[in-house]
Amino acid sequence: AALREGYEHFDPRAYLRNNYLPPRADFSSEEFVVPWKLRCLAETFASGEIRGRTLIDVGSGPTIYQLLSACDHFEEIVATDYLAVNREELGRWARGEPGAFDWSPFIQHVCKIEGRGEPWQDKERRLRQRLRRILPIDVHRPEPLGAPLRPPADALLSAFCLEAVSPDRAAFVRALAHVGNLLRPGGHALLLGALGESFYLAGAARLPVVPLQESDVREALAAAGFALRELRSYAMPPALRTGVDDVDGVFFAHAQK
Ligand code: SAH
Repeated sequence: AALREGYEHFDPRAYLRNNYLPPRADFSSEEFVVPWKLRCLAETFASGEIRGRTLIDVGSGPTIYQLLSACDHFEEIVATDYLAVNREELGRWARGEPGAFDWSPFIQHVCKIEGRGEPWQDKERRLRQRLRRILPIDVHRPEPLGAPLRPPADALLSAFCLEAVSPDRAAFVRALAHVGNLLRPGGHALLLGALGESFYLAGAARLPVVPLQESDVREALAAAGFALRELRSYAMPPALRTGVDDVDGVFFAHAQK
């Protein structure tokens, strides 16, 4: 209940400013956190192993950076979020409306690290074309979309959502199992998330987070029925500890249902 109440005050623009503008979104060095996240995703999708008809992104929030490498490998990307304000923010970007957040530096950076010489506008167009559904979701329900996804997703992505909506580790495991229901057996799951974080700010909202260690992520994936393929982590440098949260680091997990 406290979490739900906190999210009523979530301000998408403040969240974007805190996490997706400098100093965290600084593309001048790979040592900053946003380039690290984009590289994890770019390298994982570069193998060509993760592909199919549908990829679902759970708790997309107001952001699309997490879909930039994914969108080359799926016919359809389904974005989801609990909050209407976030779904609206995403819709503004998908339709190219004025006032949408400027993701172009992210798109340019991903094209650069993917190294195919693709003009960034082509990737932007492809993601907009493939992002056809932006759905409401609640990961605390065994059926997070309210009904099964048919056919189930070929891949699942979730960034900074599950630990940020779970009061404790047991709830995190349950949420992971719930979102796993959206994925076909054998499907790939990619998770990015916070390590050692107890809160983050988004305008007037102060959201509690369950602090996780790498070992918690490993155990949760196993308990929720996933086989771990890869786990990497990043330590938040002092210069990026800006007070918008108390995060210690970031994990990236690649697992298979
Ligand atoms: N994926 C984005 C946003 C993460 S912030 C990023 O990488 O930055 C956490 C998100 O979880 C918010 O967008 C919030 O609206 C969403 N959320 C809150 N409660 C939720 C719930 N019960 N189920 C699913 N998502 C929820």
